[in-house]
Amino acid sequence: MSRIVFLNGSFLPIEEAKVPFMDRGFMFGDGVYEGIGMLDGRLIDNDAHLERLERSLAEIRIPNPYTRAEWSSFQEELARRNGMTEGFIYFQVTRGVAERDFFFPEDAKPTVAMFTQAKAIAGAPAAQTGIAVVTVPDLRWQRRDIKSINLLAQVLAKQAAKEAGAQEAWLVEDGFVTEGGSSSAFIVTKEGSIVVRPLSNAILPGITRKSLLQLSKEVGIALEERRFTVEEAYDAAEAFLTSASNFVLPIVSIDGRPVADGKPGPITKRLRELYLAMASAPAMAAE
Ligand code: PMP
Repeated sequence: MSRIVFLNGSFLPIEEAKVPFMDRGFMFGDGVYEGIGMLDGRLIDNDAHLERLERSLAEIRIPNPYTRAEWSSFQEELARRNGMTEGFIYFQVTRGVAERDFFFPEDAKPTVAMFTQAKAIAGAPAAQTGIAVVTVPDLRWQRRDIKSINLLAQVLAKQAAKEAGAQEAWLVEDGFVTEGGSSSAFIVTKEGSIVVRPLSNAILPGITRKSLLQLSKEVGIALEERRFTVEEAYDAAEAFLTSASNFVLPIVSIDGRPVADGKPGPITKRLRELYLAMASAPAMAAE
């Protein structure tokens, strides 16, 4: 079966999906994106992802081409056409096609592209083994709350992590961890509280982060929403990351030092189970 992608209202075989040379996404990285997880054929937290997309678009003044109902129907149709029930759906909106000039074009139409990536999320081996992270300086711009398609700093950070034998980079500013290259960063203290950086322009407001905080509150796990340093992370009882395409993943080493005994911790495991239960629960009738 040919891979089908979505481009500007049409479902096309990927070979036929062409974006014009002067697209501002290609020329300037002038656009924003979203990524959402799918489990058992259901989109997880789609409303929150679409809300974040609306916000990212508004912040850079690109009109949202579709309603939430339209976005959802395109996402579901694309997953269906690709036979995907578990994986990741990526969608991006750029300011459109215009002669290269920095000013916003007067009459460009946003370019919308969407694709699927089938992936085992629930049964991912990394969930059992845990992953390694390395810390690198956070070289990004000052509006990390906008989910910009400009990902050069993350490309460099994650490549550096890979070359150091790790699977994710933790970005560091003024000695404090901001977040992962493509994930939210958490530690667990020896007293058993979760520590996560509060929302600000310094990090992306992770949708998985938000759901996880809600779940941990419901089961009475203590939360400290504050910045943490690299040293505190080295000394933590547990560490983990969250993202739409990984849910909750244990981190078992930071900069080559094992986190505690170097095995996924009990609070991380519990949170992953809670998240999986939430993600695979039938959607509420009211949703
Ligand atoms: N921070 C960054 C920089 C990211 O790229 C991502 C993943 N898109 C996240 C955090 C996690 O966000 P979410 O849970 O919404 O996938």
